[in-house]
Amino acid sequence: MRICVIGTGYVGLVTGAGFAETGNHVTCVDVDSTKIARLQAGEIPIYEPGLEDLVQGNRSHGRLTFSTDVAKGIAGAEVVFVTVGTPPRPDGGADLSFVDKAAETIADAMTGELVVVLKSTVPVGTHERVRRILKERAKHPFHVVSNPEFLKEGDAVADFMKPDRVVVGTDSEHARETMRRLYAPLTMTRERLVQMDPASAELTKYVANAMLAMRISFMNEVAALCERVGADVRLVRYGVGSDERIGPKFLYSGCGYGGSCFPKDVLALLHTGRELELELELVGATDRVNQRQKGVLLRKLKARYGGDLRGRRVGVWGISFKPRTDDIREAPALTLIDGLLAEGASVAAHDPVAMEAASARFGDRVELVENEYDAAKGADALVLVTEWQQYRSPDFAQLRASMRRPLLIDGRNVWAAYDLGEQGFDYEGIGVRASKLDR
Ligand code: NAD
Repeated sequence: MRICVIGTGYVGLVTGAGFAETGNHVTCVDVDSTKIARLQAGEIPIYEPGLEDLVQGNRSHGRLTFSTDVAKGIAGAEVVFVTVGTPPRPDGGADLSFVDKAAETIADAMTGELVVVLKSTVPVGTHERVRRILKERAKHPFHVVSNPEFLKEGDAVADFMKPDRVVVGTDSEHARETMRRLYAPLTMTRERLVQMDPASAELTKYVANAMLAMRISFMNEVAALCERVGADVRLVRYGVGSDERIGPKFLYSGCGYGGSCFPKDVLALLHTGRELELELELVGATDRVNQRQKGVLLRKLKARYGGDLRGRRVGVWGISFKPRTDDIREAPALTLIDGLLAEGASVAAHDPVAMEAASARFGDRVELVENEYDAAKGADALVLVTEWQQYRSPDFAQLRASMRRPLLIDGRNVWAAYDLGEQGFDYEGIGVRASKLDR
């Protein structure tokens, strides 16, 4: 099939490369000329494991091309995927201006019957909005599909090529059949297409993200309770997660969720409810708990230093919102670092791949170090914010020797099992006992 993907970000690039891999001819278009120039030069503008091979392989076979000419990419296509951003507006609702613009461009540029697939995360009713825009301007028949994307940054390629499920929401038989053919290579081992109406499909995406975010926020509340009563949140997690009705995933307490999806999607769902005079209490609480949790590391540090961090030097490990991505949008590390700087502390930070993004965000206000051990040198505390593999089992003796004060604050509880007290550290996690696991 001839496919055009509008918006070449995390979702668009993976979608384009993924469908090219299964034999389609894909043009990925974007209004960001710098991004497209880098892609045309064979550079991948984002860090996503496995993506570079997928892109280069398909480029070299001529199945994947990049262009800033959005209209040219649409002309002749049978299917257009809309994967533009839907960032939060100040009131929490989703900003649909990029989606509107893409719909207008599609209407003006289409050259024949077209299936328009909304893959961006959009509030319920957006398919109607897009349908209206197309109806006003299009000169050819069109079909609108809501096909939300569930990939995870860091595992995006595997998630796309072997999806848990593919949600397809449309009223059009032609569109349904087109989607079935397109996804057939990715859903061969078992039926994964979940078909529904467009409104249900749009809502499914928000409910999935809100449900996951809710589990995290709940466990963060449980962690705070554990600290008060002397329980260990890891043991509680094992105990609770082994119930098959609950399951073990997304039960990790930490320093709050971030990224470009959970925070904005939770707020957008809340906003949708409010527009309809329906207060979604659990969704609102999920966000409030998370806002509070993103301050937990700074609170712990301040408590250790009598509320005064002026002149303290703090090492930070991990800036991206989670491991295996360079995405720092809404990352808990940003909240921590901003807070430390405001309190008069100095910060030395490391991240395996997000240094460029961090440098653009902080400039020279933060010392960005090439080697993670340099962040600990002379530090009054080392804080682990993102659980990259390389931070999980560090050389504690080296850390101990180079830090001014051996204080470790672990925002992901990855060092909780090392009995760091015996090694001369002052250790604090999130809802864990500092001693060995009692089991
Ligand atoms: P992104 O910001 O990385 O990329 C969006 C791209 O769209 C940008 O490169 C931008 O220049 C381009 N764009 C904007 N308007 C355009 C237009 N009119 N024509 C052409 N290009 C245009 O965003 P993303 O992270 O890939 O997310 C895209 C959508 O997918 C969002 O709605 C997001 O919520 C959703 N989503 C994201 C993820 C994720 O993990 N990042 C996962 C699932 C769903």
